Amino acid sequence: MSRHCRFCHTPLTHTFADLGLSPLSNSYVKAERLNQGEMFYPLHAWVCPSCKLVQLEEFERAENIFNDEYAYFSSYSSSWLAHARQYSEVMTARFGLNAASQVVEIASNDGYLLQNFVAAGIPALGVEPTGNTAEVAIGKGIPTWVKFFGVATAHELVAAGHAADLLLGNNVLAHVPDINDFVGGLKVALKPGGVITMEFPHLLNLIRHNQFDTIYHEHFSYLSLLAVERIFAHHGLALFDVQELPTHGGSLRIFAQHANGPHATQPGLQAVRDKEAADGLDELDIYARFAAQVDETKRALLRFLIDAKEQGLRVAGYGAPAKGNTLLNYCGVRTDLIDFTVDASPHKQGTWLPGTRIPVYAPEKLREAKPDIVLILPWNLKDEIVAAHSYISEWGGRFAVPIPRVEFVA
Ligand SMILES: [Zn+2]
Repeated sequence: MSRHCRFCHTPLTHTFADLGLSPLSNSYVKAERLNQGEMFYPLHAWVCPSCKLVQLEEFERAENIFNDEYAYFSSYSSSWLAHARQYSEVMTARFGLNAASQVVEIASNDGYLLQNFVAAGIPALGVEPTGNTAEVAIGKGIPTWVKFFGVATAHELVAAGHAADLLLGNNVLAHVPDINDFVGGLKVALKPGGVITMEFPHLLNLIRHNQFDTIYHEHFSYLSLLAVERIFAHHGLALFDVQELPTHGGSLRIFAQHANGPHATQPGLQAVRDKEAADGLDELDIYARFAAQVDETKRALLRFLIDAKEQGLRVAGYGAPAKGNTLLNYCGVRTDLIDFTVDASPHKQGTWLPGTRIPVYAPEKLREAKPDIVLILPWNLKDEIVAAHSYISEWGGRFAVPIPRVEFVA
């Protein structure tokens, strides 16, 4: 079977990371399905030898992944809500947004971000494919279209008078199967002087900090500035600024406009281009070296968990994020090594993790079970989690993270 780059159609022949077979990472198992099997799919990331886009090959239609069972509600993370509020304030000031402007967010989830624009009296519209999260947004008074975004939806937005002054998407660019239809849609939906901002985890950090657990089926592309600039340029869009953000283990926020648009190019853009060039992101060697690092991480995590078990220590997890499911399935960690995990989201409590069948409880379970080690699966939120659950030290419990290398953090 031949596979081709989702952007430039070059045949994909270079492996970035092969994580074997894994179930869809958001398919949490409910009690009534415990006696059923689960589908496992290849989880294999490739790098395009031509444009250097790191990507999974498409294996299942997006409609089957982002269905109404999709369990991720943005509003359950307090640090993410603060990030969204700050973004809204800064963009409003920088681009002079007011009651005559139109803000459009793609993948607006439960309205975690647009609620800030609505409260400030700036017209805002969300486009969100998952019905249950969109309903929450609509309930909060945030106009939301339940749709996938692409060229066709962009034309509908323009026809309905919603061409955007600010067109944004956080953690969506990496999740779209047809990146050309998506970026082509951005071009259509943007007003002549408008600004696009997109946030996505930065491939440079994934490589530098060993974040291979952020590879999962719903996440089709792993983006560098280099690849994104190529894709945007192909669709008549020009980047004029980029910011490095701490979210999701190190993200980029790119700023784009129509080619020859009014916004001056900022020095931050060249700085990130130079950083990527210095690490060799336009060469294939760096991608080829990554696989060995992934194998080594698996051996170290298993050694840590087996040692804990042999010392008679009880180990629990904290969190049930998609990245935890990639890690646990790749490493083959089940209830033989981690007794249970806990998560603040009521949508995940009372389920079992896909593939590994580790039960998910509410965080109160920690006080009851008093585990000796709590392994933080969403390592990007470790400071928030450690601060909120420092009481585990009352019984001698300690927090650890698995990535970039397994170690105690408190
Ligand atoms: Zn390519």
